Amino acid sequence: DRVVSAVRVDDDEAFELKLRPTRLSEFIGQTKAKEQLAIALEAAKARGEALDHVLLFGPPGLGKTTLATIIANEMGVGFQQTAGPALQIQGDLTAILSNIKDKQVLFLDEVHRLQPVLQEKLYTALEDYTLDIMIGQGPSARTFVLDIKPFTFVAATTRPGLLSSPMRARFGILLRLEFYTEDELRFVVERSAEVLQVPIDRDGAAEIAIRSRGTPRIANRLLRRVRDYAQVRGNGSIDRPTAIAALEMLEVDAHGFDELDRRLLRTIIEKYDGGPVGLNTLAAALAEEQDALEEVYEPFLIQIGFLDRTPRGRVATKLAYEHLGIEMPRRYSL
Ligand code: ADP
Repeated sequence: DRVVSAVRVDDDEAFELKLRPTRLSEFIGQTKAKEQLAIALEAAKARGEALDHVLLFGPPGLGKTTLATIIANEMGVGFQQTAGPALQIQGDLTAILSNIKDKQVLFLDEVHRLQPVLQEKLYTALEDYTLDIMIGQGPSARTFVLDIKPFTFVAATTRPGLLSSPMRARFGILLRLEFYTEDELRFVVERSAEVLQVPIDRDGAAEIAIRSRGTPRIANRLLRRVRDYAQVRGNGSIDRPTAIAALEMLEVDAHGFDELDRRLLRTIIEKYDGGPVGLNTLAAALAEEQDALEEVYEPFLIQIGFLDRTPRGRVATKLAYEHLGIEMPRRYSL
């Protein structure tokens, strides 16, 4: 597994649970989303109602699941979690919805991967808290309407564009999560180090933050690896030289790039003259999944201006050439 992948891997799980902020006030950054949410929470609580349905969208590792759990905590209600691909047949959805407790949060990760027929079933449940259930088959089949307790549906997606417009219309609160700044990520690292009781100075935390690709999940993972290094090779505490030595050993460079990012940029530059090159061609050349390229690797490279997405394909920018120490052909630098 890539150490700088924004996607959760197995051994992140227990660790992330420990580091996950539980209140909105502990949630670092995302000022706009936080403010919008704080107002909605306060208003719903004052009315004694369930919070409106919430859609959280943005690249992986930016805190969507964390915010969903925070919503339940702040509302003082129960929390239940599942994911789009986990629900296969109507019975899966019925089982969950018929057990909903009053005002609870139902969190559905990867909502864009929910089967279209189940999406349609969900519409009515979200709209008027009822569910049509069919019992039996053939001529003796009958439907009846099941009442569901009012609840808050919190859905997360890395691909909001893939949601149908009726689905999108069911959400009263839309929160877009952005990549974090280096300062915000330094706070994330310092907060996590405190929870883990690892001594770290400001420069050490900053060095980890700079290489974390705007993503708290990566910041926490790098902190964990640097902590191991500091314990074995150093005196257990993290300063800048320790952080740099550990991250260099992991081959995470000053931008948080690893071998795959460099290979991606190098392929566009060397094999396709800097681009444009189509996403599917690029995925084949790198032997990577097209979805992973688009959802996980690209967004950060685009955000920091190393890659451009054009109608004709992906293009390596001047910054990419400079970073790899390759001279940019004149025709592109005009
Ligand atoms: P997503 O659901 O968007 O993939 P998560 O909510 O699982 O991301 O976040 C990954 C980890 O990053 C969490 O376990 C949490 O420790 C950390 N994290 C995310 N956002 C923040 C934040 N704003 N402040 C502090 N830690 C955060």
